[in-house]
Amino acid sequence: MNSKEHYVSRVTQLDAVELDDEIVNILKHQVANVAKFMPFGFLGRYDPEINAALRFVIWKFSVAKVYGTFGQQLLSMKYGGDLNKNKAELFALLTIGTRYLKERSHEVTNATGNFSLAQKMKLMFSWAEIFIHVANLMNLLIFLREGKYPTLVDRVLGLQPVSVAPPGQNRAVGYSYMTRELLWHGFIEFLIFAIPLINYHSVKRKLFNLMPWKKKRKDIAHRRAVYTLNTKCAACNEHPVIPHHMGCSHVFCFYCLKANVLADEKYECPLCGFSAGDATLVIPL
Ligand SMILES: [Zn+2]
Ligand SMILES: [Zn+2]
Repeated sequence: MNSKEHYVSRVTQLDAVELDDEIVNILKHQVANVAKFMPFGFLGRYDPEINAALRFVIWKFSVAKVYGTFGQQLLSMKYGGDLNKNKAELFALLTIGTRYLKERSHEVTNATGNFSLAQKMKLMFSWAEIFIHVANLMNLLIFLREGKYPTLVDRVLGLQPVSVAPPGQNRAVGYSYMTRELLWHGFIEFLIFAIPLINYHSVKRKLFNLMPWKKKRKDIAHRRAVYTLNTKCAACNEHPVIPHHMGCSHVFCFYCLKANVLADEKYECPLCGFSAGDATLVIPL
């Protein structure tokens, strides 16, 4: 095998590990949704068993079947080298078994029934945990240097993730889109800050007044408001609710007029262009 051709970059290998964890989380979320209808506390009591079962199912359909985890398959990788059935089973034991033992360590130590033995086992478990943490850290450091074996289990079993994509089509990670993303993010944050400072209503009024067909007919101002059965609100064109006016002959709903005048002090009547220019001038009929 040409190792150069099957080389996978470190970031892709780590991505695959992350994806595997995410897949477990997604399934776990689904199980939690289903368990909503079970008796209270069911999920908490059997959490380690459910985790182990989920991981076992995932293992059964990924590593045991096609010699690659789902995360690796998503990134067109698999376990290279001599992964056979025995090694796949050992892989399951190390990834699922140790996790299960860790989650149930409390029950396991208590089940011995002997207090001093239980204490000794507890100490052993905590030392084992520390050892595994340190080994994981060492493995990560060596992985960053060598680019092989992203997890401790991979190293113990000698399983190296390799690419299954045709040569030259390996997944390369480009960061140009991230820069663009950051720029857009910054721009949108600026807009979120700036837009509330602009009075949209007054900008709209000023723009409309620039339009050539807009003729001001101020002469209509200070006429008596005309209110008949057929009168419609000048703003919403419905029968006015709690009819009010602001000086011209047109009638508004109280809410339409008050809201518009509050938003823009120089609110103009949409029908005649009259503006009271005074937020207090909302007169009941
Ligand atoms: Zn109205
Ligand atoms: Zn009017």
